[in-house]
Amino acid sequence: MRCAKLAAASTVALLIAAGGCSSDNGPTRPPETVNRIAAADREPGSWLSHGRTYSEQRFSPLSQINLDNVERLGLAWYYDLDDHNVVEATPLIVDGFMYVSGPMGKVYALNARSGEEAWVFNPKVPAETLLAACCQPVNRGVAAWEGKIFVGALDGRLIALDAKSGEQLWASVTTDQTQPYTITGAPRVINGNVIIGNAGAEYGVRGYVSAYAADSGELVWRFYTVPGNPELGFENAAMRMAAETWTGNWWELGGGGTVWDAMAYDPELDLLYVGTGNGTPWNHSVRSPEGGDNLFLSSIVALRPSTGAYVWHYQTTPAESWDYTATQSIILADLEIEGAVRKVLMQAPKNGFFYVLDRITGKVISAQPFSEVTWASHVDLETGRPVEQPDMRARGDVQVIVKPGPSGAHNWDPMAFSPITGLAYIPTLNSRFIYQDDTDYQVAQGFWNLGYDLSIRMQFPADTRSEGRSRSYLLAWDPVNQREVWRADGSGGGLLATAGGLVFRGTRSGHFSAYDAASGREAWSADVGNRGIAGPVAYQIGEQQFVAIALGRGAATQSTRPVPHPNRLPHGNRVVAFKLGGTLSLPDETVPQQPLRAPPNVTVNPATAAKGRFVYHRFCFGCHGREARGNKIQPDLRYSDYLDNGRWQDVVMDGALAGGGMVSFKEVISPEISESIRWYVILEAQNAATAN
Ligand code: CA
Repeated sequence: MRCAKLAAASTVALLIAAGGCSSDNGPTRPPETVNRIAAADREPGSWLSHGRTYSEQRFSPLSQINLDNVERLGLAWYYDLDDHNVVEATPLIVDGFMYVSGPMGKVYALNARSGEEAWVFNPKVPAETLLAACCQPVNRGVAAWEGKIFVGALDGRLIALDAKSGEQLWASVTTDQTQPYTITGAPRVINGNVIIGNAGAEYGVRGYVSAYAADSGELVWRFYTVPGNPELGFENAAMRMAAETWTGNWWELGGGGTVWDAMAYDPELDLLYVGTGNGTPWNHSVRSPEGGDNLFLSSIVALRPSTGAYVWHYQTTPAESWDYTATQSIILADLEIEGAVRKVLMQAPKNGFFYVLDRITGKVISAQPFSEVTWASHVDLETGRPVEQPDMRARGDVQVIVKPGPSGAHNWDPMAFSPITGLAYIPTLNSRFIYQDDTDYQVAQGFWNLGYDLSIRMQFPADTRSEGRSRSYLLAWDPVNQREVWRADGSGGGLLATAGGLVFRGTRSGHFSAYDAASGREAWSADVGNRGIAGPVAYQIGEQQFVAIALGRGAATQSTRPVPHPNRLPHGNRVVAFKLGGTLSLPDETVPQQPLRAPPNVTVNPATAAKGRFVYHRFCFGCHGREARGNKIQPDLRYSDYLDNGRWQDVVMDGALAGGGMVSFKEVISPEISESIRWYVILEAQNAATAN
């Protein structure tokens, strides 16, 4: 009978989303009950899941916009997001609507043809949640399933909305609210389970990934990525195995390993793949003092999406000590390697190696550096382990310069893969960092826990920057032969590949650009007046193809110009959509640069400022930037009136600006320390004025 046949063929059975098999042999189920994401290529005009399909290739089969006509691309519509914070979201396109998220997990539903607003949902996240967000209150996108939209709010709630009305259907608190967890990643939905991770490995949390029932919001399963206190017993055999690789009292700070971004799913193998983050604290010798690989940090872990059961893992960076997360894009493809078609999983994580794994077994097929890498010479394909270079781990007062740095050779910006060119497209960075032990390190949960001293000035010898090479660029990489094919210079964001022979990206200089996917030649570019760092999408409404991107300021970037009043910046966040023959223009909204105030004319005691500098880089830099330079979202403190208006302590100790997220720090620092931070910032202000 029909049902038995369907159930026997695993690939087909997975097309059926929910409920049992019909007892009669009647017509096939109505389209609503088909797993539309698994069958995404039946509706190439939609973008149903974060990476469009479960394989997360970010490849659109649409080709109406192509290499031959892309110069006729023009603006079709734009929509202003009522926010000035960071936008990293990939929109979804479902049934003619675009669903895009903004900072904190706000959700906007727009008519995908016109940009007209259908509804806006504000999760009303408390401002103090900002304190636990390492890298701005970003949200990378929503998930869709059977008439519902799911979003992870920054404060740890997973929220289900009615796709038509935006009405909240349920909200489940997915994190311990006494711990510094946040959610920044997009949920995925697999056969009625909403999969959601979390963030907070800088702050002292224990990472995990959970599944909630799409219809009720009830917890279905949870898989921890690092072991807890052994005395309390292990949740499963995988945790018992992982605990063998840790030493010391790691559980007191949680261990880290958060699943804050990448996931992919293979319906045929029924395997969910998640990427895990760095350890807490960063410094391995502090975190696990007697050594150990520290599973499952910096790993790709394969799980059963219906139960959360562990299947296999591959650890990219054993004994991780440099913030080398493996949370970067996970892309599935079938590649012909040495004459055989292999089911592979690709990742280009922070540590600088491009990995091709067998996604059935988790065994590494190949791994080569795609950017400058000094921490390891190569990956041993027999053992699967990297071969570390000597002296790449800080010890005592010995500083080490390591490439890549904590920004990675590739960060969260989505990678794409084109099955037509066979190339992976990677937003690549040549980064480096000076690591030095924090010899006074003490645990402070809820604040950055690195075990490194970030207050040292970054003074690199001249020979650690590659001559004549761009610092960041778009890299086209051949994963079969593990080699560079082309690169396009310039700092940009997430990527989209299309069957039109194009690769799209936003840039940090405020452009939206298209490149020949085969050669890297820039084929089209438009000034969109704001940074595009999120992943673009392509979709079709009726006969018309669009390409769209959400624009907004980027996280993990320092301002190049002082921005004393970020709310007066021109160009708020917006979504822009382009089509062939589009004729719309963006409004001209240039705002004159605000004059900078002069620094306080006072004499700074160097010892006081030095003390302030150290503490600043424990508690303040996450929001206000290294050396108090700001980050284009929070103000540049060097130009703050609070430096000498007599109200510094009102803000820092008494929380006078708590409504904006600047909560009181009186639980962790004394008024004297707060005052020393003020003196340190005054010194930076004076240094900046001298440098100008
Ligand atoms: Ca991190």
